[in-house]
Amino acid sequence: MESAAAEDREALCSPRGDVHRISLPEFLEWSGTDENGLMGREAGRRLRDCGPNVLEDTGKEGIVRKYFRQFRNFFSILLAIGALLSFLAEYMDPGQGNLYIGLALGGVVVLNGTFTFIQEYQAEKTMESFRQLIPPHARVLRDGMVLDVLASELVVGDVLLLEEGDKVPADGRLIEVNSLKVDNSALTGEAEPQLRSLNCTHPEMLECRNMVFSGTLVQSGNGKAIVFGTGAHTQIGNLATLTEQTSAVDTPIRKELNHFIKVISSIAIFLGVTFFLLAFFLQDLFLASLIFAIGIIVANVPEGLLPTVTLALSLASRRMADRKALIKQLESVETLGSTTVICTDKTGTLTQNKMAVHSLIIGYEDVDPEEPEGFAEEAAGQESGVNTGEMPAGGEVIPEEGLPGSGWDPAKIPPVFLRVAGLCNNARFSERSPGYTGDPTEGALLVFANGFTDLKELNVNYPRLEEFPFDSLTKRMEVLCRTPEGGLESYLKGAPEIVVEMCDSLIEGGGVRELSRREKEELLDRHLRMAERGERVIALAYREAEKPEEYTEGFVFLGFIGIVDPPRPEAKGAIAKCHAAGIKVVMITGDHPVTAESIARGVGLADSEALEIITGDELKALSREELAERLKKKSIVFARTSPVQKLKIVQLFQAEGEIVTMTGDGVNDAPAIKNADMGVAMGSGTDVSREAADMVLLDDNFATIVNAVEEGRTVFDNIKKFIAYILTSNIPEILPFIAFVLFALPLPMNVQLILAIDLGTDILPALALGVEKGEGDIMRRPPRSRDEKLLTSQVLFTSYGIKGPIEAAAGFFCYFAVLFGGGWSFGEQLANSNPLYMQSITAFFSAVIICQIANVFTSRTRLQSVFTKGLFKNRYVLAGIVSELLILSFIIWSPLAHLIFNTSPIDLKYLLLALPFSFFLLAVDELRKYALRKNVGWVSRLFRW
Ligand code: ADP
Ligand code: MG
Repeated sequence: MESAAAEDREALCSPRGDVHRISLPEFLEWSGTDENGLMGREAGRRLRDCGPNVLEDTGKEGIVRKYFRQFRNFFSILLAIGALLSFLAEYMDPGQGNLYIGLALGGVVVLNGTFTFIQEYQAEKTMESFRQLIPPHARVLRDGMVLDVLASELVVGDVLLLEEGDKVPADGRLIEVNSLKVDNSALTGEAEPQLRSLNCTHPEMLECRNMVFSGTLVQSGNGKAIVFGTGAHTQIGNLATLTEQTSAVDTPIRKELNHFIKVISSIAIFLGVTFFLLAFFLQDLFLASLIFAIGIIVANVPEGLLPTVTLALSLASRRMADRKALIKQLESVETLGSTTVICTDKTGTLTQNKMAVHSLIIGYEDVDPEEPEGFAEEAAGQESGVNTGEMPAGGEVIPEEGLPGSGWDPAKIPPVFLRVAGLCNNARFSERSPGYTGDPTEGALLVFANGFTDLKELNVNYPRLEEFPFDSLTKRMEVLCRTPEGGLESYLKGAPEIVVEMCDSLIEGGGVRELSRREKEELLDRHLRMAERGERVIALAYREAEKPEEYTEGFVFLGFIGIVDPPRPEAKGAIAKCHAAGIKVVMITGDHPVTAESIARGVGLADSEALEIITGDELKALSREELAERLKKKSIVFARTSPVQKLKIVQLFQAEGEIVTMTGDGVNDAPAIKNADMGVAMGSGTDVSREAADMVLLDDNFATIVNAVEEGRTVFDNIKKFIAYILTSNIPEILPFIAFVLFALPLPMNVQLILAIDLGTDILPALALGVEKGEGDIMRRPPRSRDEKLLTSQVLFTSYGIKGPIEAAAGFFCYFAVLFGGGWSFGEQLANSNPLYMQSITAFFSAVIICQIANVFTSRTRLQSVFTKGLFKNRYVLAGIVSELLILSFIIWSPLAHLIFNTSPIDLKYLLLALPFSFFLLAVDELRKYALRKNVGWVSRLFRW
């Protein structure tokens, strides 16, 4: 078949509609393949001829449309109207500077829209690049071997291996199924998982059970399918548009920002309208008053806010990605920061998932070589969390790869014990570390069995007829194999209490004898001794079988295998960090409570108080109130839980008002991941869990979650900081208008200069605050409360009540200094073109900028003294300050600026006059933070944000 001619391959590139109906031989002939898969070279040729297995995104909005969408909001329209009015005023009464106001307003609209567009575009690109970090993979048979390939490299004729949790990468016809169920909802909308079979059950391809389709999910079981359609030639490819998966849920930060913008805009509009009416009635200038009103609105609306927030979030998401945490939606960064409970899996997240067999009990007999005492001590060392990455085995340290079977006497291990360990097993050897692929628990058993017997030979001599896969619900796995004598044997492995219950006899001294109820209890007692050392215990059993079906009784008990999985070295520190940060850590595992407790203590989960251990059965039986009581404890472990119970755990915590972060990797974890405030999937987990998650941990590591939480907290802090910063300058922008209207002063600051602040000098410093490192105590504060707002009256009091007035005072002081220095007397009107007037507004503007420089500096911290932060640590702040100085110089000294802003050069001494105000602002704010640190009541009430 590898010689299939080019024309034949051509025919394969476009699909045929009856692949589900034709007979299997006919199908195989058409696809030019067999059960062993394609030859690698043939696959390469098909890939070249038919193209890669990818879907083009057709539903995406064009870039131009996206750009223009930025201008369809209320403020862009308002500003555009302002610009038009200014041009109108220029036309009616030329030379009053209205031309430049109009140009400036127009410029603002374009600049702001462009800036927002660029930010959004880059954020999208960032998210896109994250997706490409975890490209979809597929397992296929090629050249008779199992290969892991990129899903994009699949071709028609490939034999695809499907497993629980996989996202099906192409359309295929099934040739083998083991309790395979798929979730076709992506395609048909039907949520109910559907059983698959090998028969054509329906004339319609989509309804036919022998089909699997690209984009759907394997809910349970496993199977093999031959690919018949890839890329655009799949059922999902036929659906014209690929709906973008970005859901429009309002994240907390979105809501916050909307609230903030609403409040600030209302203030702006209220002020604008009031001043319009005042100016109109007091000064009787319609058009000029209207433009002033617009100026006031512009002064108050934080135009740069949204793009700045987007930028802060996307920078944080990139920092998180560097630390191995990928988020799917920008705003999740911030949700993470508000987490109050982290529910985490034990296996693989708190532990290394490097499993190795550590101890054995065969029948009733302990076969560990060394005396049990030394053993216990070593295990105790492990419990206390001092982890050195070594795995003790029978008193001797085995290397990382886990030298199999060292120290055990082979004569004591019956062959059937090894058969169960090696054959009731889906892990496979591979060259890559850790030496096998598949479930690490099974990998450990594989390595173990291989130390005593030739597994290849076993696999040939005892072919597998049927499999009943492991499932966290049943906690057991069973396979049926044919013996060389022609009989059938059923091999069972699973959690001790499950397996022991299914046994009625046990192996002893080469024979089999009956097992009494009392002995069963004795057996379960024994396995607890292994569990106390933190071992995950698997029980093995077998029985003769008559027909290939799942047996649930009559097994012969073979023994226990204790597997160790050392805690991750970073876990302990990360948990301590969570506790310091007031975040509750909850461990969830399917393991036995005794194993779970041992590991929990090892990672420092129960440092100060007693551990609360809740089992899956209790979770079922206890009432909501009883559970709520027990959830109050600081350290909680859920043991012998099934993944489906995770959803209940999430909901319980949420009902207590907690913000829950939940990890998971399996299919059954998906509902909990989806429902948690922050769903976290493992990079090594199933496709299903990754689809459901908000964040993916590339390194599966608990410590990574904690780092991400820290980033999230920092981002929220930083957004607050730059809000406080940009609000401050509103006061010196508004007061000049008030003074103008009420006291008939020459207007101390015109609209162009306001825009120069809001969209010129303020922008870079605000961005710089967005990348500020977290304050030293960021992970020593309690989580922020659910209703902590971005904009609080405290922020307003600080910015509008303290810092803003200082800046305005500086402005007026310098302004009057210039005016009085030039011989002006109170009440005198000055023409716009009067050099003295031009100097006075330049002085006002300069004073505000000089104070804003002190303000950006002090805004770097919320609570700590700003002098605890290295002066040069945030180079962006320095760059921001330089930009302020450059713009200031330009406005003071450049003739072009004089034209636009109606400014003029001023004497340096007027700039120096602003300096004391600048230092005063810094000192007052330091004093405020000092009082906050000392918990001075009234200061906290008024000015803590
Ligand atoms: P976890 O959530 O900690 O990974 P699981 O639900 O996977 O826990 O496992 C629960 C119990 O089932 C384990 O304590 C072990 O006794 C048993 N077990 C785990 N993996 C397998 C497997 N592949 N085959 C049989 N039994 C298993
Ligand atoms: Mg597991």
